[in-house]
Amino acid sequence: MPEGDTVWRLARQLHEALAGKVLVRCELRVPRLATTDLSGRTVREVVARGKHLLLRVEGGLTLHSHLRMDGAWRIHAPGERWRGGPAHQIRAVLGTAHRTAVGFRLPVLELVRTADENRVVGHLGPDPLGPDWDPAEALRRLLTAPDRPLGEALLDQRLLAGLGNVYRCELCFLLGASPWLPIGRLSDPARAPALARKLLDANKDRPARRTVPGARPDRRLWVYDRADRPCLRCGTPVRHTPPGPTPDARITYWCPTCQPGPTPEP
Ligand SMILES: [Zn+2]
Repeated sequence: MPEGDTVWRLARQLHEALAGKVLVRCELRVPRLATTDLSGRTVREVVARGKHLLLRVEGGLTLHSHLRMDGAWRIHAPGERWRGGPAHQIRAVLGTAHRTAVGFRLPVLELVRTADENRVVGHLGPDPLGPDWDPAEALRRLLTAPDRPLGEALLDQRLLAGLGNVYRCELCFLLGASPWLPIGRLSDPARAPALARKLLDANKDRPARRTVPGARPDRRLWVYDRADRPCLRCGTPVRHTPPGPTPDARITYWCPTCQPGPTPEP
């Protein structure tokens, strides 16, 4: 699942492939952008903001995309077979003379003026991987509703931008707190933004995400996706909430021993 580290790495790969180059091919296969053609424009830069991608081209335009659950951008050399899904799932094709970036299943794809980017990302809280990371502001935002369950607050992109379900489960574990503990009752709430930064930063160059130091390949995460298996710290079976009615309903994983506090209604 794409989280802030994945999107940061993707932005860097897209930047390396496209920035400074002129687009010679542009197909935006969503109804609203069907007649938009960016070819002839130079790509200025590609940056991540939380889990959002901003591809800025000359002329003051930004192509904004978001991967949500399973969107993807793939970069191809000329003549290379496109990977990433069947053709009908392609939403964007951006080609230079040397590389072609193809966006698959992008649930969000829109063009905004670069000067108006705030319209699409202005609501986001501080980004642990952003150049303007501000842990004090992230903490202030996280504590604005002290009664909110920790696990829920960590997913709220307006408070802290970039965490998805994997990191929020792992962060709750590393904070030693139940995901349902009111965030205001954390003994040291400043550790939440500090750990978010540490985890995202440590993983932004790693294709296989890891929160357990020096972990074996099959033990890279403390609790995420370890339902009913022994907690890597204490051996208690890891608990999880039931899967929701939709594929994007997030399952919470936690160790009831290492993470004391409230538990959800049965
Ligand atoms: Zn445990």
